[in-house]
Amino acid sequence: MKEEITGLPEAFLTRMQRLLGSEYEAFAASYERERQYGLRRNPLKGSEEEFIRVMPFPLEKVFWAREGYYYDAASRPGRHVLHEAGAYYIQEPSAMAVAEVLSPKPGERILDLCAAPGGKSTQIAGRMQGQGLLVANEVMGERARVLSQNVERMGVSNCVVCNEKPERMAVLFPAFFDRVLVDAPCSGEGMFRKDEAAASEWSPETVEMCAERQALILEEAAKMVKPGGVLTYSTCTFSPEENEGTISAFLRTHEEYNIEETAFEDIFSPGRADWVGEPGAGIAHTLRLWPHLVRGEGHYVARLRRRGGLSRETDEKGTPVWKVTGDKKLCKFVETFLREEIGINDAWMIRHPGQLAKFGDQIYLVPEGMISLSGIKVLRPGLHLLTEKKNRFEPVHALSRTLLKKDTEKRRELTEAEAVSYLRGESLGCGEERGWTALFYEAYPLGFGKASGGQMKNHYPKGIRISF
Ligand code: SAM
Repeated sequence: MKEEITGLPEAFLTRMQRLLGSEYEAFAASYERERQYGLRRNPLKGSEEEFIRVMPFPLEKVFWAREGYYYDAASRPGRHVLHEAGAYYIQEPSAMAVAEVLSPKPGERILDLCAAPGGKSTQIAGRMQGQGLLVANEVMGERARVLSQNVERMGVSNCVVCNEKPERMAVLFPAFFDRVLVDAPCSGEGMFRKDEAAASEWSPETVEMCAERQALILEEAAKMVKPGGVLTYSTCTFSPEENEGTISAFLRTHEEYNIEETAFEDIFSPGRADWVGEPGAGIAHTLRLWPHLVRGEGHYVARLRRRGGLSRETDEKGTPVWKVTGDKKLCKFVETFLREEIGINDAWMIRHPGQLAKFGDQIYLVPEGMISLSGIKVLRPGLHLLTEKKNRFEPVHALSRTLLKKDTEKRRELTEAEAVSYLRGESLGCGEERGWTALFYEAYPLGFGKASGGQMKNHYPKGIRISF
């Protein structure tokens, strides 16, 4: 017998019971258990060993996500210096499976079409290791701003953050990307345990409306995948209409795509062709994550490949000089500034190729392979390097976030107490040193300070200062 589960819509439970049959009881019981909490290590900022050494909370591996860990709710890792330093991103464990299925590689061109607040974009960026182009797009302006902040916090240097509708993106980037991710807006049934609002906003009409919207988004996304490229679709909902239904309807009108098998079929459950009356379309190779079968919330992921062509070969090797293009005088000036004022060396230069661009008094490093920025609503055209102030230049906070300790000698390691007061916006005492200094907590860069006359002036941006 179906029993009431506090806070969950009756119509939702009735439908889940009809779909799951004898499995429904186990599914319903998962709502009695506490949800799982996850965070993901940022591989752009050093090794796993270093991360494990400095993390003050008990952690347990999420076995389907290379950088994923479970933590206890009591640890509250969202309020810690290491979080501000971008050492990790708090992300629900099942959600980590999506970028794993997408399988991004360094040097590729990748689009995350529905990207805010940035969980999957920052995970993809970690795999790309600064090589190639990541375009993270979000249609809602305010959410795009949060996405942009997270890209900065995590020290991602090869990401262009856009704020466009999918149909506009499709005009700008026809058959352009090696991989496109559609982490679609959905009815959020898989998040009911995590987010009570999702349950109160749910209705059968929402499911229908979401399915219609997903079809439109997927249609536009498909235009941007180059022949041979990958299109990954995901939701955090259970309804077949938004999952197997969306994918099988898409495949009916897109012969150029087929569903790919993935290495995750042994870990997760198969998509259910029988729920949408579509046997044989490869739907069984799409993936369902059930809260009663895995340690995470509900998710659905499908990986499609566009026929034809071969995916571009990726070049994981760096070159021993700064591979930077743009106005020659500007390139020379910026390189000299970075080397002399910030102490940046070849190690950083090799990891950060791109094209220098000046917008007004701001200098950015636009990732290699990006198209012209004119006519696109862009929040972050790449890595923000320098800003011009009354005939002098200052390094920008985003630049500090891309530094590893080996990248500069002009650095200082802060104690935890110093790091806390730096994040609050306070000046620090200093010795003889002068000029720009990259400030680190353990292996993780926090931001810049400028030393003069025994004081390290605080350059942590006012808008993100924080007290613990
Ligand atoms: N990928 C994100 C992450 O991992 O942090 C979560 C994305 S969330 C599931 C879906 C996103 O799609 C939301 O940020 C939402 O604003 C956006 N969205 C809503 N309507 C949309 C539309 N019509 N086209 C494209 N994106 C839309």
